[in-house]
Amino acid sequence: MSRWDDAALTAAFAHRLRHQEPLSRHSTFHVGGPADLFLTTHTAAELETAVCLAGAAGIPVRVLGSGANILPADAGVRGLVIRNVSRRFLLEADGNRVTVESGMVLPVLARRTARAGLAGLTWGCGVPGTVGGAVANNAGCYGAAVSDHLLSVRTVNAAGEVREWTADALRFRYRGSPFKGKAGEEPAIKAAILAATFTLQPGDAQTLLAQVARWLEQRAATQPLDHPSAGSFFKNPDGDFAGRLIETAGLKGLTHGEAQVSTKHANFFINQGHASATDLYLLAREVRQAVEQRTGIRLEREVELIGAWDDAEDR
Ligand SMILES: Cc1cc2nc3c(=O)[nH]c(=O)nc-3n(C[C@H](O)[C@H](O)[C@H](O)COP(=O)(O)OP(=O)(O)OC[C@H]3O[C@@H](n4cnc5c(N)ncnc54)[C@H](O)[C@@H]3O)c2cc1C
Repeated sequence: MSRWDDAALTAAFAHRLRHQEPLSRHSTFHVGGPADLFLTTHTAAELETAVCLAGAAGIPVRVLGSGANILPADAGVRGLVIRNVSRRFLLEADGNRVTVESGMVLPVLARRTARAGLAGLTWGCGVPGTVGGAVANNAGCYGAAVSDHLLSVRTVNAAGEVREWTADALRFRYRGSPFKGKAGEEPAIKAAILAATFTLQPGDAQTLLAQVARWLEQRAATQPLDHPSAGSFFKNPDGDFAGRLIETAGLKGLTHGEAQVSTKHANFFINQGHASATDLYLLAREVRQAVEQRTGIRLEREVELIGAWDDAEDR
C-alpha cells in the first residue's frame, strides 16, 4: 500500500506504474534504493500528464533521463520518479532548426544532426544522457555546452502550466542551469523539461561524422567505459582540472568498499561490482578532503545526490 494517493496515476498508466522500483536499475552507477513510485514515459504528452497528475495529488516528482549524472541514495527516493524516454526528433522547415523531445539521447542526436549536415551538437556523441538531463546540467565537453545552440525549452510544472522559455531568459552556468539546484537547494525553476529546440549551423556531414569517430576513440582511450560510473564526479575548478588535482594528490586507485577512483581517469569514480551509493559518497568525501588539505581548493560535485540522503553532511 503506497503512502501516496496514486489513484489518478494508476487510472492513467495502470500496470505501468511501479512501486518500490530499485533505482540501481536506472542509474549508470548501478546504485540506489527504491523509488516509492516509478513510471517510464514514452512521449512528451505522457510526461506532461504524469507531472500534472502527481502535482495534483501532492506527490513529489523527480524526472530522470539516463541517470548518468546522479547518485541516488541507498534509502531511495520518496514520491514519483519518472524515467523519460520520449524521443521524437523534428527537423524544422528552415533546415537548421531541430526540435527534440527531452528523452532523446545525446549520442543519437549528435549522429542524426551530423548525418543531416548540421554542426553544433556533435560533441554529445559520447555523453550518455538525455536532452532533458543535458539542459538541466548544461552538459558539455571539448569547449562546447548544450546552452551554446539552445533556442528554447518547453516545460511543465506541478500545477500543470506548460511554458516555453527562450534560452536567453534562462541563466545557464558551467554545468548548471535554473532547472538544477545547487547542492541542498531547490532549483530556481521547478519544472520538467518536455522538449528543446536548437539552432545549428550547416556543416559537411562526412567531416562531422569523422569528428564523432575521433572523439569516441579518444574517450575509449582515456575513460573507464568498461565500469559503471557517472562520468566526471567533480566540476573543474577555475583554471584547473579536478582530475589533475585528484591524480596529483596520489588518489588514483583509492577505494571505499567496491567504489574506486579510476586508475584510468582520476575524476571518474567507478563501481567495481557491488558498491553502494554510500561507498561512492564516502569515497568522494575522502577525495574532496584530501584535495582541499593539499591545495586549499574545495571541489564541487558535478554528480547530484538525489533522494533520502538525510545523513549526508553536504547534500
Ligand atoms: C561515461 C560517461 C561520460 C560522461 N561524459 C560527460 C561529458 O563529457 N560532459 C558532461 O557534461 N557530462 C558527462 N557525463 C554525465 C552525463 O552523461 C550528463 O550530465 C548528462 O547530461 C546527464 O543526462 P541524464 O539524462 O542522464 O540526466 P539524469 O542523470 O537522469 O538527471 C540529471 C539531472 O537532470 C534532471 N533532469 C533529467 N531529465 C530532466 C527533465 N526532462 N526535466 C527536468 N529535469 C531533468 C534530473 O532530475 C537531475 O537533476 C558523462 C557520464 C558518463 C557515465
